[in-house]
Amino acid sequence: MREEPRYDQADTADIPVTAVPADDADADEDATAGRPQRRGGRRRSARPRRSAFLSVAAPSLAVLGVTAVATAATVNESEPVNETPAPVAAPDPADVRPVAANQRLDSQLAGLTEAVDDYSDRASRTQGRIDLEAQQEAEAEAAAAAAAAAEAARPKFFLPVEQRGLSATFGQSGINWMSTHTGIDFPVSYGTSVRAATDGTISTQFHPSYGTMAILTAPDGTETWYAHLDSTIFTSGTVQAGTVIAYSGNSGTSTGPHLHFEVRPGGGSPVDPLAWLRGKGLEPT
Ligand SMILES: [Zn+2]
Repeated sequence: MREEPRYDQADTADIPVTAVPADDADADEDATAGRPQRRGGRRRSARPRRSAFLSVAAPSLAVLGVTAVATAATVNESEPVNETPAPVAAPDPADVRPVAANQRLDSQLAGLTEAVDDYSDRASRTQGRIDLEAQQEAEAEAAAAAAAAAEAARPKFFLPVEQRGLSATFGQSGINWMSTHTGIDFPVSYGTSVRAATDGTISTQFHPSYGTMAILTAPDGTETWYAHLDSTIFTSGTVQAGTVIAYSGNSGTSTGPHLHFEVRPGGGSPVDPLAWLRGKGLEPT
C-alpha cells in the first residue's frame, strides 16, 4: 500500500516522489498500468503539475533531498506539451492526453527503430571484429610456424672466420707464451670479422696474454674463446651463432695478426677446437 498512496491521506510526508497516486491514472494510463517498465518517469509525467506540486508540497522534501528536486524538474521538462497547451485549444486534458500519448508512442517507435538499427550495426561490427580476430590469429599462427621452421633450419654452429687454413694447431708446444697450445690459430689479417661459433652469452675482457678477448658461453655451458682481438662489437648480451661479434687483431702476447680460438666444454679445460668444429660438421682447414 505504500507504493500506491492516495492524495487524501493526511500524512503526505511519507509519500515517495516516485509513487503514482492511484487516482491519478485515467483510461489512457490504465492501458499501460500493468507494464512495470512504464512505471518510471515517463508515465508519471502524464500529470507533471500534480506530481511536481506533490513533490514540492510534501514536507519530506528536505529529507528526500536533491534527488527529489531533480526528479521533479525532469518530470516538468520531459513533455512540455502538457505544460503549455495552445491558447486557442480547449485546455481540456481529455484533448491533450491522447496527443501526448501518441507522441509517446511515436517516440517509442522511433526509439525502437533506432535500437534495431543500433543492434544491426553492432552485430555487423561484432562479426567484423570476429573475422579480423580469426584472420589475425591465423596470421600469428603462420608467423609462428614460419619462425619455428626458420629456427629449425638456422645453422647453430659457425666457423669463427671464413678463411680456411690454420697457422697453429691444438697441443703444439712453443706457441707464444704457452707451454702447449690451448687452441687453434687462424692466420687472418687485421680487422677480419669474427663470428660467434654458437648461440650464447657474451662477456669480454682484456688479458695480458690473450689480449682483448671475448668469451661466448653456449646454452649447454660450452665456452668458446676469441683472443688477440682488435675490438669487440658486443661486451655483453646474447647472440646467435654466426653473428659478427668482434674484429681480429694483434693484442696481448702475439707475434702477428691472427685469431686464437679455444673451446672449453662446461667452462673447464680446453679441447681440440679442430675436432670440436668437425664434430659440428664444420671444416676450418
Ligand atoms: Zn693461438
